[in-house]
Amino acid sequence: MNYHNITKDDMLNGTGLRVVLWVSGCAHACPGCQNPQTWEQMSGIPFDKEAMDEIRAELQKDYIDGITLSGGDPLFPGNRGAVTRLLQTIREEFPNKTIWLYTGYSYE
Ligand code: SF4
Repeated sequence: MNYHNITKDDMLNGTGLRVVLWVSGCAHACPGCQNPQTWEQMSGIPFDKEAMDEIRAELQKDYIDGITLSGGDPLFPGNRGAVTRLLQTIREEFPNKTIWLYTGYSYE
């Protein structure tokens, strides 16, 4: 999985202050999308150990409510495996942090 950015102390994408992972890859092509530069799956840079450590360092801070995944679409088919593993790890290591995920798919 590739990503475009990790933003910190973000107040605009969920409750409280959050770390936000902006992943690459989206096939929805919504009219008015604010991030069309993220649609291409291979855009951005690989999500690697350093990126994971960056997220961990944020989630270790008491004042950070949790993590938000956005993009791009975290549930783009090519992202689902990596996103599942990432969130399983976060849930295990940070059971009290909240997880938000923005997607273009319906809940069903
Ligand atoms: S799902 Fe999100 S990133 Fe994808 S086209 Fe729609 S608004 Fe843009």
